[in-house]
Amino acid sequence: MAESSSAPRGNVSPEKYDGKYGHTFYYAFNLLKLGDKESWTFREEFSTDCPVWPSSWLCEVVFRKVLDDGHVFVPITLKRTDIAGQPLKIRIETYINDEVNDRDFMFDAPPTEKGGILGGHELKDIIIKHLPSPEERERFNRKLHIKFFIYVSSCHKTWEK
Ligand SMILES: [Zn+2]
Repeated sequence: MAESSSAPRGNVSPEKYDGKYGHTFYYAFNLLKLGDKESWTFREEFSTDCPVWPSSWLCEVVFRKVLDDGHVFVPITLKRTDIAGQPLKIRIETYINDEVNDRDFMFDAPPTEKGGILGGHELKDIIIKHLPSPEERERFNRKLHIKFFIYVSSCHKTWEK
């Protein structure tokens, strides 16, 4: 039976919230059979529609199956794709869970954030995790629940300074 090679694109669409201090984008999706895919890249573009300083972004997160020594590396890139000069702040929180852990996340990485991002600039980070047990590694490779919270701020300056 041919397994569809398509990534879970259908499930990937953000919920957007515009707040007092910035704009939030929330993505949640399942990533199935990473072990068979070897790697899969989450690649999404989004825009803030901010009435003061609108901005657009490209988010890329690469998931690879667990290495033989149990390490997981998840590189994250958030690139600002507009050319406006207003420096903005961006922050991403990543939550990765398997199908077994109900409440505790398999791993929740510390948030990554960076201020002063101009058009064309980017934030880069890499999440590194070690999964000591073969069961954990197998679960990681089989099914993951992934959530990203991305916050863009410093655009509407009314509440700052
Ligand atoms: Zn704004």
